[in-house]
Amino acid sequence: MRPNGSMFRLARQRRGLHQTDAAPLLGVEQPILSRVENDLAVVTDELLQRAETAYSFPRAFFFLNETIYGPPVSVHPMWRKKADVSAREIDSIVADLNIRGFHLRRILEGIELRTKADIPRLDVVDFESVEKIAALVRAHWQIPSGPIKNLMLYAERAGIIVMHSNMAGTPISGVTYSIPGLPPMILLNEDQSADRMRFTLAHEIGHLVMHKFPSATMEEEANEFASNLLMPSADLRQAFKGRRIDLALLGALKPEWLVSMQALLMRAKTLGFLTEGQNQYLWKQISARGLRLQEPPQFDFPKEIPTVMPRVIEVYKSALAYSDDEFAKLLVIFPDDVASMYGNGRDKRPRPKLTILT
Ligand SMILES: [Zn+2]
Repeated sequence: MRPNGSMFRLARQRRGLHQTDAAPLLGVEQPILSRVENDLAVVTDELLQRAETAYSFPRAFFFLNETIYGPPVSVHPMWRKKADVSAREIDSIVADLNIRGFHLRRILEGIELRTKADIPRLDVVDFESVEKIAALVRAHWQIPSGPIKNLMLYAERAGIIVMHSNMAGTPISGVTYSIPGLPPMILLNEDQSADRMRFTLAHEIGHLVMHKFPSATMEEEANEFASNLLMPSADLRQAFKGRRIDLALLGALKPEWLVSMQALLMRAKTLGFLTEGQNQYLWKQISARGLRLQEPPQFDFPKEIPTVMPRVIEVYKSALAYSDDEFAKLLVIFPDDVASMYGNGRDKRPRPKLTILT
């Protein structure tokens, strides 16, 4: 069997390397590496050995014959600012998504994932508004009115594979990736705060529900979907009604609604609870206190943790009796990568303490 040039390219991209950086690590000139990646050169055993070390993928990785897919419909920067993300970084994220995709395919050969719900596909042009779509998703998933206590749970029940990632060190907050024949994946940047992470998850769910194809308005729509999914107007009106909207109230509502003070403030304005002047005044206060990037820690809440992949790994290790090495071999990566991509397989959620009420 011949090594596959595309897997050499994927490994290099995953490690965030240009051909010019990678060639010296492999002990060849760049034109040779280019030919290797395009299946135009003979791959020597020495080159394979060097690739294994330089790219940190096992030898078998370079012989895989996987279909490789292009970039997702949208990748977008955190904090609504145009972040400085290079093509090399995007390539690394797309390579990561592809690798997770073929892991998923291999994993699903051994176990079956049963979903309790599905993802409705609703096109914005067919409905009155994005608000309506968010309400339909809540109804379809049978989410009770008021704050969503655990959005991750609903996403996972609908068959979405949610995973944390360092996003190649970029400020990209989240990305949705759908590979034909596989459950959709959402990667969330693990470096964001719990409130932003939840908003990102809601935003990415919005893409899955509404956006089969990219459009000029998709980011705005996904944000509007996230706001409406997490903070439905009818419920939130009750929370604001008759109360003075200031930073103290926004802080008090944050742990209840599990959204940022800033998301609540935007919603208060949209729902007509603030005049333009009051709105500007509150934003000035938020800026002056340095709360834009970090809200007061006393209102923080724990991050929602994905549970499906950790449970899958647990099943492989317990029911199917795979050792760490065998599981890494199944995924054709080194054990270190298993840990960094999926955790160590143990569900790290804090268990609720047993309390006895008397
Ligand atoms: Zn988006």
